[in-house]
Amino acid sequence: MKALVKAKAEEGLWMQEVDRPEIGPDDVLIRVHMTAICGTDIHIYNWDDWAQKNVPTPMVVGHEFGGVVEAVGGEVSRIKPGMRVSGEGHVVGEKSRAVRAGRFHLDPDTKGIGVNMPGAFAEYLRIPAFNVVPLPDDVAMEQAAFLDPLGNAVHTATAFDLVGEDVLITGAGPIGIMAAAVARHCGARHVVVTDINPDRLKLLVQVAPNAIPVNTLEEDLRDIMGHLKMTEGFDVGLEMSGAEPAFNQMVEHLVMGGKIAMLGLPARPFNLDMGSLIMRGITFKGIYGREMFDTWHKMLAMLQSGLDVSKLITHRLPASEFQTGFDAMRSGKAGKVILDWRDA
Ligand code: ZN
Repeated sequence: MKALVKAKAEEGLWMQEVDRPEIGPDDVLIRVHMTAICGTDIHIYNWDDWAQKNVPTPMVVGHEFGGVVEAVGGEVSRIKPGMRVSGEGHVVGEKSRAVRAGRFHLDPDTKGIGVNMPGAFAEYLRIPAFNVVPLPDDVAMEQAAFLDPLGNAVHTATAFDLVGEDVLITGAGPIGIMAAAVARHCGARHVVVTDINPDRLKLLVQVAPNAIPVNTLEEDLRDIMGHLKMTEGFDVGLEMSGAEPAFNQMVEHLVMGGKIAMLGLPARPFNLDMGSLIMRGITFKGIYGREMFDTWHKMLAMLQSGLDVSKLITHRLPASEFQTGFDAMRSGKAGKVILDWRDA
């Protein structure tokens, strides 16, 4: 089968012929239809420090996918051939205390498909049946291709109650944009999103027309709050940028007792004004991945009840044109880039 492989320990990815995966008794084989390119895949493409430390070569990359079940192992009964599915890309162990208590997303032994086990940028993908999520009929395969990052957005946006709250999101990358749409869907009042990249803020308005874009190089957040008649500050912050100035600005503009859910991964350690966090009673929660499988339930239910993030797709390409897709992602101007593997 065709697969996109990190074949060499250098910049780039290569489309190669590899063996179709064989399934064990608890596995499912999925004929991949659509995939989406993630920031993680760009780190792997670029072969940066993180990728060099975490990704063995050769490795089939990719973890955002939708497809149809081709075959199931002998012990599998929940999943049947022909089902339309997506799946959780974090594969957990069975030993840790967190896993034994059902907190699968907190397993320290987690492996990632397309990172340290073979991934989804291929005609066929093998994953444990446990990880497979069947798709409702009204969720499109294109949407299935990026449920993984939508799940990051939903996990972050549901960390705290948003009903009637004013929400500040720092970072208008694809996940920040989806989090804005999710926050409004969950009943937030004002959703303000900051970034310094005008292309991203433009895409934000297309996907989440009710969100308020703020370019912090040109506008003052206090002025925006004045227009919105917000006297005290934001109730909840969703940090999606991993950027120290954005985080500090978020802390400054929160109410006393405000809450921050943090998903953006900083490239290096932050300087924090801990005194301000303590004296103002700020609650701070780190978010990793998706809760298995409550985040999946919630995001599929939101899609079925009107959440629409399909305008985030800026590129639809056959898998053979992956290079065009990666170039678009690396330019920082793309939303989601979908690769179609049906004629790979
Ligand atoms: Zn991803």
